[in-house]
Amino acid sequence: MRILVVEDEPGIANFVRQGLQEAGYAVDVTWDGQEGLAYALATEYDVLVLDIMLPRMNGLDLLRELREQGNKTPTLMLTARDTVEDRVIGLDAGADDYLVKPFAFPELLARVRALLRRPPLQTGTVLVAGDLEMDTSTRQVQRGERLIDLSPREFAVLEYLMRHPNQVLTRTQIGEHVWDLCFYNESNVVDVYIGYLRRKVDTDSDYPLIHTVRGVGYRLSAEE
Ligand code: CA
Repeated sequence: MRILVVEDEPGIANFVRQGLQEAGYAVDVTWDGQEGLAYALATEYDVLVLDIMLPRMNGLDLLRELREQGNKTPTLMLTARDTVEDRVIGLDAGADDYLVKPFAFPELLARVRALLRRPPLQTGTVLVAGDLEMDTSTRQVQRGERLIDLSPREFAVLEYLMRHPNQVLTRTQIGEHVWDLCFYNESNVVDVYIGYLRRKVDTDSDYPLIHTVRGVGYRLSAEE
């Protein structure tokens, strides 16, 4: 597993590099945001450890640019400040996890391991499937040029499908991720909402995105 560390404080950079190497990872380090972006785009890293305050390009801009270019490398952000706003900005920029300085190395290592275990999901605020786009921060959904107006529940069902593209999801999975404890598996509420979404998302479109997998559940896919 290969990790890129973008950190401009030499003490922290060296300590993180040494610790990760001792744990058996291949590690590249850069001190500069623009160079970090170039590295991250040039090589398929398994994890990115990213400081926020960096020379030439800050970590948030680096990450936004990386995500805009479709790069989904799991990213752990390091920050000196621990406020709710900082966390929200970092996560909205596409970070997968967050660690506040000063930190103990075993915690960084545990978080890196957790990121490596994650299945590949769509990360970031804009989810895409074929010509369907969902911006989860502005809550705007569009198919091609057509804006789609969704209720909060419809939005939640579609977001869950879009975060697991090409996977077959059972009614129970969808129900448990979108409804609270009041969800009853025996009700047909998931099918009802899939019906609403089909009408809004797939009607009048060139190809369907929401597919029924008979006897199992549903799958969102731009392919047949
Ligand atoms: Ca820094």
